Amino acid sequence: MTAIKFVIIGYGGMGSYHKKELMPSELVQVVGVYDIAQTAQDSAREAGLKVYESLERVLADETVEAVLIATPNDAHKTIAIAALHAGKHVICEKPVAMNVAELDAILKVAKETGNTFMVHQNRRWDPDFLVIRDLYQTGQIGDLFQIESRVHGANGIPGDWREQAKHGGGMLLDWGVHLIDQLLWLIDSPIKQMSADFSYILGNEVDDGFILYLTFENGIRALIEVGTTNYSQLPRWYVKGLNGAAKIENWDLSGELVVATNKADVIAPKPIKAGVGLTKTMAPPSEEATVKHAINPIPADFVPFYQNVFDVMRHGAQPIVKNEQVRKVLQLIDDVFALVEDAK
Ligand code: NAD
Repeated sequence: MTAIKFVIIGYGGMGSYHKKELMPSELVQVVGVYDIAQTAQDSAREAGLKVYESLERVLADETVEAVLIATPNDAHKTIAIAALHAGKHVICEKPVAMNVAELDAILKVAKETGNTFMVHQNRRWDPDFLVIRDLYQTGQIGDLFQIESRVHGANGIPGDWREQAKHGGGMLLDWGVHLIDQLLWLIDSPIKQMSADFSYILGNEVDDGFILYLTFENGIRALIEVGTTNYSQLPRWYVKGLNGAAKIENWDLSGELVVATNKADVIAPKPIKAGVGLTKTMAPPSEEATVKHAINPIPADFVPFYQNVFDVMRHGAQPIVKNEQVRKVLQLIDDVFALVEDAK
């Protein structure tokens, strides 16, 4: 089967990364680029790519089968709808749209035209997330009851469209989308309760970070935190199970997995001096009570993103990133914005 002929719309950081790093040439043939910026057009030409003069030219080109949309977030909807109407399949960067109403308008056209519309929720394939998913599914540290998922940067919001509300800037619509998608894909249980708070430490018009607490009906409590003013970072993941805990420091999988031995003859922890006081409650477990392991990578039990794109477009396979899941994530984001607005 021949590779799918794609045009990349928006050849900035992520659009060019798709071409250079993500799109395998046996599955995807990038036939050209459309971008409104001269710099992006120049770099596409330097990479030997055809540069289209307008979106209309891309959509009128019958050799083009699909487009990848990697523009700022506010441009996704209009481009996606025009491309679907023109008979193209569409892969769209996250966040798929600014809100659920926009996404519903896209999905309506996808349904009417029968063309594929899929969102690049790539962080389902992240090695650190695959470890957490494995712990959740195998019960290696018992049933998980608390999940903390954080990303901490120290450089503020990048000084581009991400600083502006009209383009869909802010961290909830940026990293928040990834972390919420991972969690909702993992935990198949309705949300019972939630609370959220945005930070505006650097005085931007959009959030430079947020904390979101979720309680699921199955009892799992989760915290999602994104920060951009953290000169010292907390671990990427901290999860607790009934029989152990895992701490993953970073994307390189540094960290530890601590599993309870449940030996009958385990010696009770002894009180320790803590500061100027004494505690037994906060004493570490005795040596016999736990075993520590390094964090080992877990291979994904599902195909890579563009393999799935190819299988969906050429063979009618099921998408790994389903639109109803993407919609659930965006609905939660809409709800968080409404919650924070109500609390003002
Ligand atoms: P960027 O600013 O680096 O690139 C955006 C490009 O789009 C620019 O070259 C700009 O000129 C072009 N553009 C703007 N409006 C356009 C229009 N109407 N038509 C054609 N081109 C247009 O931004 P980026 O970091 O590449 O982000 C692009 C998208 O990718 C965003 O939706 C972002 O959330 C997403 N993204 C996803 C990931 C991921 O891991 N999945 C990572 C980074 C960015």
